[in-house]
Amino acid sequence: DVLISQIAAGEVVERPASVLKELVENSLDAGATRIDVQIEEGGVRLIRVADDGAGIAKEDLPLALARHATSKIGTLDDLERVASYGFRGEALASIASVARTNIASRSTDDGHAWKIEAATARIVPAALAAGTVIEVADLYFNTPARRKFLKSEATEYGHCDEVLRRMALARPDVAFALGHNRSAKLRLAPADGARRARDILGEEFFAHCRSVDVAAGPLRLSGFAALPAYSKASRDAQYFFVNGRFVRDKLLAHAAREAYADILHGARHPAYCLFLELDPAGVDVNVHPAKIEVRFRDGRGVHQFVFHALQRALAAPVA
Ligand code: ADP
Ligand code: MG
Repeated sequence: DVLISQIAAGEVVERPASVLKELVENSLDAGATRIDVQIEEGGVRLIRVADDGAGIAKEDLPLALARHATSKIGTLDDLERVASYGFRGEALASIASVARTNIASRSTDDGHAWKIEAATARIVPAALAAGTVIEVADLYFNTPARRKFLKSEATEYGHCDEVLRRMALARPDVAFALGHNRSAKLRLAPADGARRARDILGEEFFAHCRSVDVAAGPLRLSGFAALPAYSKASRDAQYFFVNGRFVRDKLLAHAAREAYADILHGARHPAYCLFLELDPAGVDVNVHPAKIEVRFRDGRGVHQFVFHALQRALAAPVA
């Protein structure tokens, strides 16, 4: 069972940043309004995520670490809709199989908090005002072959930082904090979408961008797209979210590139942060364990819509 967990973990737990993504998604699924992330040594030594969400009841703590014991999906019908981020119920089990993991949590109807240590399944009383604190330490301590594939501390930390920025863009209503090796790196108060985009992408971006908000039937594209005057765009300044999830999608990236083709010449990259919303039945987010890729039922229609919406927004005269 441990071996099966470690194999499955290879997909979910590729590196510290993938652990962080799973933990933050769980916090969001639990309704957290504040998420505090502390990282040590690029996340290899420690990833600690504290939230103020609904918490886990004492009797559910062992279940949280068990494979496929998720409480989030009742039927196949639910699976099609996937309103929450997590639905496979294997992230924590996978993480616990390759790192020293413990969970302290206080459910809203428990008198005080409890803490479970994954290695021993021992549950002891803990002190916590509300919510959940998950600590993942010494990633891959028991699978040294895997540990060799990790990059430098700075690179792994960079991926963690990027994961948190994506989540922060997707959920401006949630407060986020990030620290690395005990120094504060990011502190974000709850905000509206514009304020959050400015906090994450910077003043320069915000001063040289167009806001986008176009709807057609069941499709809506909103967000911010930089004009050519914004010269700092890098290869990584392209953010697409589909129904609230960050995705890396060739079809969407292509539609954006085409929309920019007339105004951005040469080797310059476009920069944007765009939110596509559509009927969940029109998109399959289940194509990859890391859930970063999507497949659209009507790819052509989505491509045309995104292309025209973005092209129109970029061409609009300055208000
Ligand atoms: P999934 O998210 O797919 O259900 P996970 O392995 O990621 O599976 O989490 C297992 C279960 O642990 C969740 O379904 C949830 O009930 C509980 N859980 C995990 N993290 C938190 C959290 N931060 N707050 C409340 N419950 C949590
Ligand atoms: Mg999960």
